[in-house]
Amino acid sequence: MTALRFDVGKIPGNDDVPRVAAPDALQTLTAAAVDAGAAWTRLGNTLLVTGAPAQLERARAGRAPAERIEVPAARLHLVIQNGRQFQQGHPEVPVLVDRGRYLVVDLDPAEAGRLVEPSERHLPCFGVRPLPADTVVFEQRPPALARRRAVAEPRVAAVSRDAFAADLRTLAGFRTRHSTSTEFGTALDWADRVLSALGCVTRVQAVALPGGSTQNLIAERPGLGGDGRAVLVTAHLDSINVRDGADAPAPGADDNGSGAAGVLAVARALQDHPGARDLRLILFGGEEQGLFGSRHYVAELAPAERDRIHAVLNMDMIASRNTPSPTVLLEGAAVSQAVLEELAAAAQVHTGLTVQTSLMPFNSDHVPFVDHGIPAVLTIEGADGANDRIHTAGDTLEHLDLDLALEILRMNVAYLEQALGRA
Ligand SMILES: [Zn+2]
Repeated sequence: MTALRFDVGKIPGNDDVPRVAAPDALQTLTAAAVDAGAAWTRLGNTLLVTGAPAQLERARAGRAPAERIEVPAARLHLVIQNGRQFQQGHPEVPVLVDRGRYLVVDLDPAEAGRLVEPSERHLPCFGVRPLPADTVVFEQRPPALARRRAVAEPRVAAVSRDAFAADLRTLAGFRTRHSTSTEFGTALDWADRVLSALGCVTRVQAVALPGGSTQNLIAERPGLGGDGRAVLVTAHLDSINVRDGADAPAPGADDNGSGAAGVLAVARALQDHPGARDLRLILFGGEEQGLFGSRHYVAELAPAERDRIHAVLNMDMIASRNTPSPTVLLEGAAVSQAVLEELAAAAQVHTGLTVQTSLMPFNSDHVPFVDHGIPAVLTIEGADGANDRIHTAGDTLEHLDLDLALEILRMNVAYLEQALGRA
């Protein structure tokens, strides 16, 4: 035996909402692992403890029931996947812990490096690394009790379901929004008209791709005064059909029609908001080919412009409900911890969302910002790893849950209202 698995505070039929006592129990078990000299890794309410048999016995003594995992520690790997793409591509690899976006799998260390195939055409669909020791992969916070939630403020209530649904229909109505397609340009022009009509000043930035080019749309609404800082709201506009190629249908309703329509929803909700700071809305191209739009955007910013960014709020896949209770994952890095906490607080006050948090940024447009020390957070549907439709012709409107998207948008608008300040 090389590992113990503890699952804390499970509610039968609903793995995703730990009882209130769960965080305490997790801390107690983690402390016992440390005392025993064992290593630990947490994925939500699952705790893995690894070490020699004697250490595991000590870590366990008299405590919660644990499942024994009989796999040598060197074979334990953490997978972070977009959609269900690791499991679809490698059904032969045994999955020991399945928490959607995050998996713990049994893999030969020599094999692990070979699984991730870099491609010229698209981002790797998953990352694999040895199971990180003494690390929280993601944390989970249950929603606030309904009676503790504040009455929705007008701004939060201004997130229009009808307008969001209509924008989403328009975006998913394009045969594809592949970064190099004509339809991408048409979709970008349409979004440009929408944002201009909402009072933004827009510009288009050309972005080079291997074997082609694409565009970013940047829309600016100057603040009415304040400290000269800017708050960015971003999403990728492009879609992809990985298996069937650039010419195949790629409606990309969830990935990322939902996030792109979310950017427009934010612009609508904040249209008359007297924000002190600048609000900048960006729709990126080239995300699916390897974050080309966001990388280019950040690389082109002058150092003083980078320093001016207060926060970046990125939306990528916010409308597929993969968990029994509506859940959002907030994913950032150490540099974005404060933004992440403010978003989590907004979720508690204004929504019924279960909030997962992680400081392991992966594969979306928040990564180039984080890499440059800019506080950026991804907001994404919880357990996106259970979504097996993304990057296929099957990512269509009928699979979406607008209630989940609206909850995530309410959280984001509440956060933004605060982050922008009032003039
Ligand atoms: Zn995406």
